[in-house]
Amino acid sequence: MYIPYNIATIGDEEINEVIETLKSGWLTMGPKTFQFECDLAKYSNTEHVVAVSSCTAALHLSLLAYDIGHGDEVITTPYTFAATGNSILYTGAKPVFVDIQKESFNINHELIEDAITDNTKAIIPVDFAGQPCEYDAINDIAYDHDLVVISDAAHSLGAKYKGKSVGNLADATCTSFYATKNITTGEGGAIFTNDDSIVDKLKCMRLHGISKDAWKRYAKSGDWRYDIGSLGWKYNMTDIQSSIGIHQLKKLDTFCDLRIQHANMFSKLLFDMNDELHIFKELPNRNHVFHLFPILLNNYDRDEFIKEMNDVYGIGCSVHFIPLHHHTLYNHLHYDDLNNADFMFEREVSLPLYPSMTNENILYICKCIKDILC
Ligand SMILES: *Cc1c(COP(=O)(O)O)cnc(C)c1O
Repeated sequence: MYIPYNIATIGDEEINEVIETLKSGWLTMGPKTFQFECDLAKYSNTEHVVAVSSCTAALHLSLLAYDIGHGDEVITTPYTFAATGNSILYTGAKPVFVDIQKESFNINHELIEDAITDNTKAIIPVDFAGQPCEYDAINDIAYDHDLVVISDAAHSLGAKYKGKSVGNLADATCTSFYATKNITTGEGGAIFTNDDSIVDKLKCMRLHGISKDAWKRYAKSGDWRYDIGSLGWKYNMTDIQSSIGIHQLKKLDTFCDLRIQHANMFSKLLFDMNDELHIFKELPNRNHVFHLFPILLNNYDRDEFIKEMNDVYGIGCSVHFIPLHHHTLYNHLHYDDLNNADFMFEREVSLPLYPSMTNENILYICKCIKDILC
């Protein structure tokens, strides 16, 4: 038996919708994408959703929509995927990393204020593993200093903070439909916002800066003429992807419930191992959707553990994340005081966690962890 680190859950509904779209002859952004956007907005109770080609694109366009660029600074966490930091660099702005909390891997909101300078324009909190950050505190700081908050919710679609859905916790919220995420379109992303002032800009910038109805130019009602008003990118989603997304979204709550059930079972089975490893609990006032199940090893070499899990027991594990300041690209920015990020990275292992796992899978994984560590 081999238990892979991740498997996407795709049903006949997704497959049939993709076939229908292929047969329709309209493959790129069109009616299916607009339906997917409407469905996402309804799901999260957010005014506007703009679907794009990835969460990376969503972050990049959100920063641009708020006019962030050269000379600006954006505060974020080092404990994230390349997308968060790179999208800041795309705009010419400087990523300023603030250390994380040991309780959640999320940005330590108490350290944000000290990192603010005259050049700071935005904060990008990342909801690590599917657990929303401390948004009340973060939004208060942003309000006091006239900053925008762009949430990286690549892990947290389906989660809530103080009863409010992800999508409504920041000025703009960026999520991912990458293959391993809470729901997938293979590759894809979306921006959720209640800020009317950025919607037209986002829609324009996802398609080269051409006027927002340009996709219609090959439809019956369309016109061949268009104007490029400002520089945009090629970041649109396609109707093939949206065909998958429309049906994945209907399953999102079930997927989240399964993730939570699996996480609870892991927590129960690993509870008596607190000498060997550390597990993470949901913080108060939020619903954690367990995109990941991270553990910290107290006194066993992390790399050796992952190798044994894979080679001896047939279990795929991963590590989230290699902190951004450890990468060569970010070396020259000279960060210090990121001690918690360094500490967690040395010891972190992400166990397999996805909706289609069985209780037997989880029992076996926990038994193997005990064999290795005890
Ligand atoms: C996956 C991920 C992204 C990027 O998503 P893409 O859709 O692949 O661009 C951004 N942030 C975090 C925290 C992620 O895990």
